[in-house]
Amino acid sequence: MAEPGEVRCAGIPPHPGYRERYPWHARAWAQLTRDPARLPHALLLHGQPGLGKEALAWRFAQALVCADPGAGFEACGACQSCRLYVAGTHPDLRFVGLEEESRQIAVDQIRAVGSFLALSPHSAARKVVIVSPAEAMNLSAANSLLKVLEEPPPGSVLVLVSSRIAGLPATVRSRCAAIALGVPPRAEAADWLRAQGVARPEEILDVAAGAPLAALELERSDGLNERKEVLRAFEAVGGGTEDPVRCATRWKAADSRRCLSWVQDEVARRIGALMAGSEATSKSAEIKRLFEFLDEVSEARRLLETPLDQTLLLEDLLIRWSRAATR
Ligand SMILES: [Zn+2]
Repeated sequence: MAEPGEVRCAGIPPHPGYRERYPWHARAWAQLTRDPARLPHALLLHGQPGLGKEALAWRFAQALVCADPGAGFEACGACQSCRLYVAGTHPDLRFVGLEEESRQIAVDQIRAVGSFLALSPHSAARKVVIVSPAEAMNLSAANSLLKVLEEPPPGSVLVLVSSRIAGLPATVRSRCAAIALGVPPRAEAADWLRAQGVARPEEILDVAAGAPLAALELERSDGLNERKEVLRAFEAVGGGTEDPVRCATRWKAADSRRCLSWVQDEVARRIGALMAGSEATSKSAEIKRLFEFLDEVSEARRLLETPLDQTLLLEDLLIRWSRAATR
């Protein structure tokens, strides 16, 4: 019989990016694979969104379960383990992520990890669990994971993936070997995007904070135009010509996280422009007001990851903005 939560975290095919060899992963890959015989029990792969952290975690997981990894610790792709991995049925590998509409990783998902790791491996040399996005664990889930991290079963490797490690308890972070995935140099990112058929990568890289996969996603989803529309509405709410409640409903229907991340960048950009300008002193009240609003946007982004109603959160924030802007 399946353990509680067992069925729901098993049988997932690998992340579609597991075969990719993104140039900006090279350093992190070298760190991950430096000494496969003496791996830490828990790794924390972190960096901003849009760098392919989860794809890298899956690539590493394949190498960990592969019967015959080759040069550079790359999975062979041909052994029985690799075939099971591709089919999403490897008995020694589990993925724990967000389920359906949930915005949190729940405690029973992590308890299932404990039960899974307690048994010795079926066929691979180790048992591997990927948890992504790790910051989505609620407090009970994180506490449950902490128990596993305090006494990791022999031969187990946990790979936590996070875009926001501040959202992880310090007790969890301190028990993981952290590997940072950084933004590639601008020219390298632009070259890579051009090779993917992006004609003018510079503007889109700016919007994506330098992250190539986020930039590619923006290009493919017409994100630049979407962003223009979001910032137009933001401006209009501030100017009193657009209803904050209607704007909130639209942003919720589009993508709350993405909209707020654009708003946050825009507010930060305005602050930067005002502070760099010659009238910075006379604008100090406005700068202060924008800083306050920036804090409110950060807080709203944090709350988006909790079970609170997203439309209400956005409404509240936009109403504050309409009041602040007309003050
Ligand atoms: Zn293999």
